[in-house]
Amino acid sequence: MHATVLPAVGKPVVPILAHPATQTAAASGVDVDLDLLKRLGRNGPRYTSYPTADRFDDKFGYRDYLHAVAGLLTRGGARPLSLYLHIPFCDTVCYYCACNKIVTKKREKAATYLAYLKREIAMQAALFGGMNEVEQLHFGGGTPTYLLDAQMDDLMAHLRRNFRFAPDEVGEYAIEVDPRTVSSERVHTLRRQGFNRISLGVQDFDPEVQRAVNRVQPESETRAVIDAARAAGFRSVSIDLIYGLPKQTMDTMRQTLDKVVAASPDRIAVYHYAHMPHLFKPQRRIVEADMPPSDTKLAMLQLCIERLGAAGYVYIGMDHFAKPDDDLAVAQRQGRLHRNFQGYSTHAETDLVAFGVSAIGAVGATYSQNVKTLDEYYDLLDQNELPVARGIRLGMDDALRRSLIQKLMCQFEVSIPALEQAFPIVFRDYFAPELARLRQMEEDGLVTVGPEWLTVTMKGRLLIRNVCMVFDRYLAARSEGPRYSQTV
Ligand code: SF4
Repeated sequence: MHATVLPAVGKPVVPILAHPATQTAAASGVDVDLDLLKRLGRNGPRYTSYPTADRFDDKFGYRDYLHAVAGLLTRGGARPLSLYLHIPFCDTVCYYCACNKIVTKKREKAATYLAYLKREIAMQAALFGGMNEVEQLHFGGGTPTYLLDAQMDDLMAHLRRNFRFAPDEVGEYAIEVDPRTVSSERVHTLRRQGFNRISLGVQDFDPEVQRAVNRVQPESETRAVIDAARAAGFRSVSIDLIYGLPKQTMDTMRQTLDKVVAASPDRIAVYHYAHMPHLFKPQRRIVEADMPPSDTKLAMLQLCIERLGAAGYVYIGMDHFAKPDDDLAVAQRQGRLHRNFQGYSTHAETDLVAFGVSAIGAVGATYSQNVKTLDEYYDLLDQNELPVARGIRLGMDDALRRSLIQKLMCQFEVSIPALEQAFPIVFRDYFAPELARLRQMEEDGLVTVGPEWLTVTMKGRLLIRNVCMVFDRYLAARSEGPRYSQTV
């Protein structure tokens, strides 16, 4: 559903603070230093995983996955589970889209997909033997609400037959919703079906911007979905915005932000539109002359941070904002924030089991990704094989760097003694080359390195990807091509 984004131009350092009650060293705000952003913005991974998905190898297959699950069972399988289901279908294409989706009006395709998805669920459930409780469920796409009510009923009942779910007040059960595809009544149905978090793709409220990206979505429809979600008792409502879209101006951005703040969602994600038409075909339909210049994009970012900060939202990191009493903000303050393929999460120690085309799972010390086309997906399931296409088994160095990058992305700091306790290393020796590379960032005021803590400063937070990239062993071995979006 999402694009990628970051920085702009203008005044130097503007401190943005969140709600006064929540100002803590790690979680309350971010400083915008436009000169620094302009100088250091570069292409880089978003670190929803480490190693990043482009390091996955097709030598890793179904049997390696079975081995990873067997390892969990040997360990006692005590960790809760997180489930991700990918529903790839969409009615129409949004021109900015960089997702793995299938645009079709042939509804029968979804029925076939559902039959195979249920087969995959049953196979995975047999592996886990019903011993781990599910604490997280995420439906992403594509458009999960492409499924009809009856299909969703069927799928949820199947999931419940195959996995044991934590009670509603414990579990985090989320669905991405395209407001154009759901009525208020459907929102109530989704709540009854077991979802307690809802995330709405909005992108921009301006009609001209919406036309330019082929996603016309009246504001009234979005507001109706938000109102229905509140009335239905969803625990959290989240809105996704994108800046850097064609026809966007500072004025349209200001108006969109005012409307978003008035709607008062619990979480807001503000993504940078990463224009990469060589990689994503729909983006070729965007008129480049309509796109805002990079200086304006940075100014938009600054505006978003200021406006949301003034409205009391806390900067969580990597494009995400939350109300101070939202679970994400609380988890960050308590050092319990985690990051996975669906973004930030409060459930740290879970194994992620993924279903559907292109879905990525994280089980034990492995990542694995399913095949990307429907034909391959159906073929492998017909052969009674899980449709794993590629993956990676993490070595000690990978696990160490994953832990470090995870802490930086979620808490903006790493305890050096804690890392040394968890892994057999002396931090300053092991990371001597990285610390040498960090020196310039220290001089620029992005990080501080003390005897016990590596800390990303308020000024460094928007450039967190740059800091993480220093610790990415694989990046050193290749040049950063156009495969990644800008870090700001
Ligand atoms: S709804 Fe639009 S942005 Fe979301 S996956 Fe479909 S085409 Fe892409």
